[in-house]
Amino acid sequence: MILEKEWEERYQEAAVGVDTARLNRYLCKQVRRHLDKLSAEKATGFSVAERAYRYGDHGIYLSTKEKRKRIFILLTDNNQYKRQIYIDLKPDERNLVIHVPVETAVRRHEDYHARIGLASGMRHMLVTDKGHVYGERYGEYQFALAEYVRKGRSVYQKNRRNNPGRKKYYAGKARLEAALHSYINGEINRLLETEMPEEIFLPKLPQNTRAGVYKVYNNAAHMWQRGYIKKRLTQKCQENSIRLVEVFAKNIGKECSVCGATGKKEKEFFVCQACGAQLPERENVARNALLRGRAQRVSVSANVTDTEIKIE
Ligand SMILES: [Zn+2]
Repeated sequence: MILEKEWEERYQEAAVGVDTARLNRYLCKQVRRHLDKLSAEKATGFSVAERAYRYGDHGIYLSTKEKRKRIFILLTDNNQYKRQIYIDLKPDERNLVIHVPVETAVRRHEDYHARIGLASGMRHMLVTDKGHVYGERYGEYQFALAEYVRKGRSVYQKNRRNNPGRKKYYAGKARLEAALHSYINGEINRLLETEMPEEIFLPKLPQNTRAGVYKVYNNAAHMWQRGYIKKRLTQKCQENSIRLVEVFAKNIGKECSVCGATGKKEKEFFVCQACGAQLPERENVARNALLRGRAQRVSVSANVTDTEIKIE
């Protein structure tokens, strides 16, 4: 090794009086003692990161520590993955098996056959097309959280100068949010277990809810947990093999789900002048979601095949 001038001088100073051969023997002994024994003969397998393999030539190329050297394994299927895999060695059979982790354990419910329409609300979390309410206390939980944030904010604004810490505030907020979320999850579970749906139709959420749309609830709307509800519902549907279909939501609240005419909202009711229908406003939306979902499904099937279209 060639050392820089300054280091070379120090090296020469330190090397005076050292028995080089003996030192080398000593170093070799220490390296042998501390170096881990190669364990390849014992190992029955190893993991390979996503970027350490590629597919090609009906097989898989595994990278090795040697530059440009790859191990090629011929595959028995055409499946390709983009995640960490595990190579399970079977030396006795002169073979190996590649294990790939699956994303989620999926349950299938043979007895889930219903098709339901859902509407989400500010006061009640979800209402079905039959008027069943899930998350009846959603509004209370949501209001408690919104109020806490509103008060916390005004107190903070007033004492901004002599109030540096907000630890207590954040802890309280996290507690309320956790309570709300656990309530949401519990009610979604109850909905799925009770309604036993095969397919759910939900009006598509607006891309971004502009402040001011819900004037009274301006503050609450900002905090509104619709995104969270949607995320959890999507996840739980996936885990239970339930199809969640978003339907076109334009004017979904203005249309009468009985006759299709344009009606009015009166307090929490939907009232149709044309046919005289009068029903809870959210229920009307959920019924429309179901109607639109079915219509959507028919047009999708019609694109695929025009032999048999069933309308329930
Ligand atoms: Zn009507």
